[in-house]
Amino acid sequence: MKHLLFNTFHIIRNSLDPFLHFREVSILCYHSISDDQSDTSIPEDQFGKHIKTLKNANYTFVSLDDIFAWFSQNVSVPQKAVTLTFDDGYADFKTTALPILEKYNIPVTLFLVGDREQYRLNLGSDLAMLSDVDVAELEKHPLVSLGWHTKTHPNLAALSKENMGQEIIPPTPMSFFAYPGGNYSENAMGAVQNAGFSAAFSIKRDLVSRGKNRWLLPRIVILKNDSGKDLEHYVSMAQHWYASLRNVFKKYG
Ligand SMILES: [Zn+2]
Repeated sequence: MKHLLFNTFHIIRNSLDPFLHFREVSILCYHSISDDQSDTSIPEDQFGKHIKTLKNANYTFVSLDDIFAWFSQNVSVPQKAVTLTFDDGYADFKTTALPILEKYNIPVTLFLVGDREQYRLNLGSDLAMLSDVDVAELEKHPLVSLGWHTKTHPNLAALSKENMGQEIIPPTPMSFFAYPGGNYSENAMGAVQNAGFSAAFSIKRDLVSRGKNRWLLPRIVILKNDSGKDLEHYVSMAQHWYASLRNVFKKYG
């Protein structure tokens, strides 16, 4: 049903776009680029296909700064704009994802967990994490920006106000924050605001639009089985229509 709706919406989108010139701005959220079993790990060749599909569909890869400037100050971005973000700080970002991003000159934001090794142990994951030396190197890379994803990746919605500061305040000033697991609360949003960030991102399959809350901007999580065609749907008006329809059913269903 979902695929049928997406396909229908996408066909409608493609036939209306020459007249309506849809504004499509979205932020994708990747984790590991590897053959790891977890749902959020994407094999390298599949990641390459995602990039090629979006390029062939004439989407432009822009930085998170570009999207935020469009969002907050009306600075122009291409009609079809996509930003890539990577969460947690897996070592394969540097060894596997970055060479592909370099090949296509794609800017990227890396949302880092501070205590990455502890986070890996908590997860029981075999995936290596970026070392502090890696991070220092990446910080200088012209395509890479760093964002904050808390110190230990807690569920912020379940954390007391007193414990939030040490998780949310970054070691060095950063512009953007991503809620771990997409979990947030009013207190967490307030703490992020007080910590000096410019905007914060949750996880929600929708496009970014100007009316949205800057402390709760949507990102689309990419999962292992997502094909290039799925990606093309996620970054298009079809996704926005699907999300709106889902909201209506949630309200009245
Ligand atoms: Zn995370």
